[in-house]
Amino acid sequence: MSDAGNLADQPITALKGVGDKFAQVLAKLHIASVQDLLFHLPLRYQDRTRVVPLAALLPGVDAVIEGEVRAADVVFGRRRSLVVRLQDGSGTITLRFFHFTAAQKNRFARGVRLRCYGEARRGASGLELYHPETEIVGEETSPQPDTLTPVYPLTEGVSQIRLRGLMHQALEMLERGGVEELLSVELLPRDMDYPLAGALRYLHQPPAGADLAQLAEGMHPAQQRLALEELLAHHLSLLELRRENSAVSAPPLPANAALERDFLSRLPFALTGAQQRVCTEIAADLATARPMMRLLQGDVGAGKTLVAALAALKAIGSGAQVAVMAPTEILAEQHRRNFCGWLEPLGIGVAQLTGSLKTAERRTQLAAVAGGEAQLVVGTHALFQPEVVFHNLALVIIDEQHRFGVRQRLELREKGAADASGGRLQPHQLIMTATPIPRTLAMSAFADLDCSVIDELPPGRQPINTVAISNERREEVMQRVQGAVAEGRQAYWVCTLIEESETLQAQAAETTASELAETLQDVRIALVHGRLKPDEKERVMNAFKAGEVDLLVATTVIEVGVDVPNASLMIIENPERLGLAQLHQLRGRVGRGSIASHCVLLYGTPLSQNGRARLQALRSHSDGFAIAEEDLRLRGPGEILGTRQTGEIQHRVADLQRDAHLLPQVQRIASAPTLGQRERQRLVARWLQNRPRFAEA
Ligand code: ADP
Ligand code: MG
Repeated sequence: MSDAGNLADQPITALKGVGDKFAQVLAKLHIASVQDLLFHLPLRYQDRTRVVPLAALLPGVDAVIEGEVRAADVVFGRRRSLVVRLQDGSGTITLRFFHFTAAQKNRFARGVRLRCYGEARRGASGLELYHPETEIVGEETSPQPDTLTPVYPLTEGVSQIRLRGLMHQALEMLERGGVEELLSVELLPRDMDYPLAGALRYLHQPPAGADLAQLAEGMHPAQQRLALEELLAHHLSLLELRRENSAVSAPPLPANAALERDFLSRLPFALTGAQQRVCTEIAADLATARPMMRLLQGDVGAGKTLVAALAALKAIGSGAQVAVMAPTEILAEQHRRNFCGWLEPLGIGVAQLTGSLKTAERRTQLAAVAGGEAQLVVGTHALFQPEVVFHNLALVIIDEQHRFGVRQRLELREKGAADASGGRLQPHQLIMTATPIPRTLAMSAFADLDCSVIDELPPGRQPINTVAISNERREEVMQRVQGAVAEGRQAYWVCTLIEESETLQAQAAETTASELAETLQDVRIALVHGRLKPDEKERVMNAFKAGEVDLLVATTVIEVGVDVPNASLMIIENPERLGLAQLHQLRGRVGRGSIASHCVLLYGTPLSQNGRARLQALRSHSDGFAIAEEDLRLRGPGEILGTRQTGEIQHRVADLQRDAHLLPQVQRIASAPTLGQRERQRLVARWLQNRPRFAEA
């Protein structure tokens, strides 16, 4: 390949018709080079390669049709529309236009031959095409293409036609080489041995007759070949991150046995075996001058907070500071109380930084952090802000990791303490998650982290008895709440909505709360949702904790971490709307004390087959890891690494759920000695240059 031919080095302006201004528009699609353009793949395809006889048209499918106009009339129905009857040798069909001009109507004269492209839908008169593209046959009909027509993702200022034109040029350049093959055939799985250039060509111009369904699913070998390469590139970049990480220094934090003994002797219980084992792993990391990057996984209620406290004591015992970061104010507040309760008796100062602090209070807290009087600071995202200056930060603990992006993880590095020569030491990081990540996913998506797992719950926990009940039996469920409260127990009633809008969620919860208040007698009901002011939220949570509230009606804001042991009944409305992992999290709010706990999944009818399977999975498994595996198998939308993982890795071709089966291959190739250093670097550059590695959270 000639150097001039390397399309990664050819700026997009090398194409005819692309000036600096248009290049800026393309930059919004992360296209800077000709190679980037070639990696900008179609979202879907149109089949314009053949004319479909009218009798063979299927509803819901785009198609080209051709026929003679039999009539064109303006019809005054509910909406004025132009209705054109088209006929071919096999049958007739209706074209319907709600927006049209007189000139258009006149074009569709009786006897004219029309070629149309559009999606047939069932309408008033059988199959109809709404606003199809139309062309009069004979005038200057464009030639029928012999490949499928790609439909690309666009941005303002770029049209399909223009992008297709550019792609033509780029594909011509590709014919002459210019996209380097970085994976040798031996490295590729046999069913994917597609040369990269061949895969790109195929995906931009699939031949007539290509398997559209397979392409739509992203399962064509050409797509899989690219997905594999992309996943590999991400994996390699994380491995690189890990390598870089081991090259920087962190303050070594040896154990302070006396302090830890003092701490443990005040606890009303002993550590579980799993907690002990994980603490030993963490201690070994902290004792070295290499920054710890450890993911601590443990099922809901496994006791991660305590492990975090023991890690914190190592830093504090060495005279350094600890930051504990939580995803929500409710959780930050809970951690603050826990840590205060545990650490203040040992003479350790605990500060708090959340977005809702009043200015004066905030100033006091900031000063305590900067001056070092606070050895531990608990907070939310507010901990990231530039005006937060630490005295000597040595350990960062991030709770419920899935809410934080990898990017933020990297930013935290900048907050470390200075070393003797004035250089920055990177703090150790402990990342805790209760959303278990199946092993293969974890190894790829978090390849820059070491993993510890707490695989044992504290003793005496009663399993949560989970039942699924149709919403038609809502009355019964309410009576059950009444009964539980009469026995002195507390309950959660969780309202779910698919909409991310906090306002709508809050409204739904308010409606439910008043309905429950009307039905249930002598039950003290309170409401908590994302629209409440932080101090209001705190007041409600405290009242619930103190047992002054019997029934807490909540949105999914209570999903993570909240710990009220006396709460032993949870009703989850419309559980079919949530992912399994999220449901498992929610359910984990009960079963924290020694009383038997119950979770009622109050589902809406009718329940889809997948919905049924997912609720069943939740009923039959209590172990978060088993549920996560099941989740991956059932692949509901947006689960595990789905919508809740904004802030995580962004892919162009690959889809971590769809392509999870490729991950073992990815790991195999990444560890193959035959994959050279240069190839590794080029793979990362090819897939990760010019784009944010991680989405903004
Ligand atoms: P999670 O892992 O979900 O964050 P928490 O740290 O909130 O769990 O712990 C859940 C509950 O279990 C807390 O009330 C905590 O005090 C208690 N706990 C933690 N470790 C133990 C243990 N070894 N024995 C008994 N109870 C424990
Ligand atoms: Mg927790």
